Amino acid sequence: MKALVAVKRVVDYEVKVRVKPDNSGIELNNVKMSMNPFCEIAVEEAVRLKEKNIISEIIVVSMGDKESQKQLQTALALGADRAILVESSDDLQPLTVAKLLKAIYDKEQPDLVIMGKQSIDGDNNQTGQMFAALAGLPQGTFASKVDVADGKVDVTREIDGGLQTVSLNLPALVTTDLRLNEPRYASLPNIMKAKRKPMETLAPADLGVSGKEHFKTLKVESPPVREAGIKVESVEELVDKLKNEAKVI
Ligand code: AMP
Repeated sequence: MKALVAVKRVVDYEVKVRVKPDNSGIELNNVKMSMNPFCEIAVEEAVRLKEKNIISEIIVVSMGDKESQKQLQTALALGADRAILVESSDDLQPLTVAKLLKAIYDKEQPDLVIMGKQSIDGDNNQTGQMFAALAGLPQGTFASKVDVADGKVDVTREIDGGLQTVSLNLPALVTTDLRLNEPRYASLPNIMKAKRKPMETLAPADLGVSGKEHFKTLKVESPPVREAGIKVESVEELVDKLKNEAKVI
């Protein structure tokens, strides 16, 4: 059984992002970039399925500029078998990524596609769902547990106030939630070995997809700066302020 895992290069989750002075986006110069955390969880889940001999090959794919090779290398070091970079310097929007992924899916015919539920840069939470619709696949989104057996994948999903378990016929798409697993770190020998694993580079045009913009970002703004708090001398003063200034009681 083959798994296809999509990984995205994003600003590292520990970076405090700065908005560009012209409000057109986020400053990316000299900023640490990493694999999207939900994609790390997707790679880890595929590797665990391979360790259980359920999956025999893991293909990782990323769409982005040349630098995305680094995140693909990380995925190879974590246990993926080969990588595909769809190289583009355009700002690829979810629908375009979904179409590219559909073209790769048609070419590779995997049994299971695993993606993050969301990228932490755009917070889109769209690509997996769009891909599943384009490919006509059943989808198990926000997975906190995945069981693959007998041509099916059972996905336990985190929903408001509880858990829902759905059973999907393979091939299927799963998107990962935070509690699905705890990703491992790549060991040094595996980082070295990853350099010898195959990495193919394609252009969107090779897959018959154009990088058409489906929406425009009009403005990006920082959240408003929080005003400093004050200290009160007594409970009476606190109650007075809550009543007469904040008017919340
Ligand atoms: P999003 O819809 O942007 O929140 O992303 C959800 C998931 O789609 C990510 O966790 C990735 O698995 C996948 N994805 C989105 N953009 C890309 C990309 N440029 N390259 C590879 N995978 C992507």
